[in-house]
Amino acid sequence: MATMRVVQVSKPKGPFEMVERPIPEPPAGWVRIKVQACGVCHSDSIVKEGLFPGLEYPRVPGHEVAGVIDAVGQGVVQWTKGQRVGVGWFGGNSGHCESCRRGDFFACDEVKTTGISFDGGYGEYMLAPASAVAMMPGDLSPVEAAPLMCAGITTFNSLRNSGARAGDLVAVHGLGGLGHLGVQYAAKMGFYTVAVARGQDKEPLAKKLGAAVYIDSEKVDAAAELKKLGGAKAILATVTSGEAMSAIQGGLGVRGKLLVVGAAPSMQTSPLLLIFGARTIQGCYSGTSIDSQDTLRFSAFSGVRSMNETYPFERASEAYERMTSGKARFRAVLTIGT
Ligand SMILES: [Zn+2]
Ligand SMILES: [Zn+2]
Repeated sequence: MATMRVVQVSKPKGPFEMVERPIPEPPAGWVRIKVQACGVCHSDSIVKEGLFPGLEYPRVPGHEVAGVIDAVGQGVVQWTKGQRVGVGWFGGNSGHCESCRRGDFFACDEVKTTGISFDGGYGEYMLAPASAVAMMPGDLSPVEAAPLMCAGITTFNSLRNSGARAGDLVAVHGLGGLGHLGVQYAAKMGFYTVAVARGQDKEPLAKKLGAAVYIDSEKVDAAAELKKLGGAKAILATVTSGEAMSAIQGGLGVRGKLLVVGAAPSMQTSPLLLIFGARTIQGCYSGTSIDSQDTLRFSAFSGVRSMNETYPFERASEAYERMTSGKARFRAVLTIGT
C-alpha cells in the first residue's frame, strides 16, 4: 500500500512527529489533495496545545493549504483531478441546517474546521470535503497562496464587507502576519489607508505596502491622530491586545466600524462612543471557500503577496516556534515535496 509522510500531534502539548501513514482514499463528497505548501498559523496552537474541547488525537494540523487535487470521491461534481486548489480554516458545511438554509454557511451546526475536525495540510496528502475547496489561480505559487487561505482571507473579507467605499479612510491596526496583508488589501481596494503600529522603524515597510499615512502608536495617541484625519470609516484591528483595541476605537468617524479579527480575550468599549456617531464593533470570521477563492483571485491580479519565511515540512516544529514567538517575518510556510 502506498504511504505518505505527515506531521502529527498525538496528544495535547505533545511534539510534532513525522509519521508514515497509508495514503487515504477520499470518501463520497470529499477530495484528496497532494499538498504543495501549508502555512503555519497561530491557530495551529489549538491542536498543539490542546485548546479545543473534544479534539481527537492524533491530528495533523494546518489550515492554510495549497496543492493539487489528486483524487475525487463519489458524487463530487465540481472538482477534478489535476486542479490547483487551496483549503482554509472553513472545512465545509452540511447544507441542510437552519444557518445553511439562510446562507450563513460559516455558522453551520456541523461546520468543520480544517486541521481540527479532520487532518490538515502538514503532510504530503490530505482529504477535504468538496465544499471546503477553493480554486487557486495559475499565477500564484503554492507558497504565495498558502498564507492567503487564512491570514489573507481574514483581512480581505473583513475589509471588503466593511461598508467602506473607495477613498474612505481605513486604518489597519497592527503590522504583523495579518496587518501586513491588511494594509496591502486596503490600499488595493482604493481606501485611504492608514497603518497603525508600534515604533517608528515600521514606517518604511507600511508605506511600501501601500499605506498613505503611518501612525506610531508608541509616540502619539493613535485615536486622536485618526480623528485629526477625519475619523476612520473602518479600523481593521489585527492586534491581539484588548487594551490596544479599546484605545483605538476613539479614532472611528461617524458610522465607523471597528473590525475585530484579533482574538483578544476581552476588550472595553464606551456606549456613548457607539451611540453618538452610530459606531459599530463587528467581529469578522474569516470566510468560506468561495471567499478564499475571491481572496486568491484578487491577490493574484492586484499583486498582494504575503511576506513569508519558508521551511521544508520536516522542520515544522521550528517553523511553529518562529510563528508563536512572533519572530516570523511575517508568515511561516511549510513546503512539501517539490
Ligand atoms: Zn489561521
Ligand atoms: Zn449547516
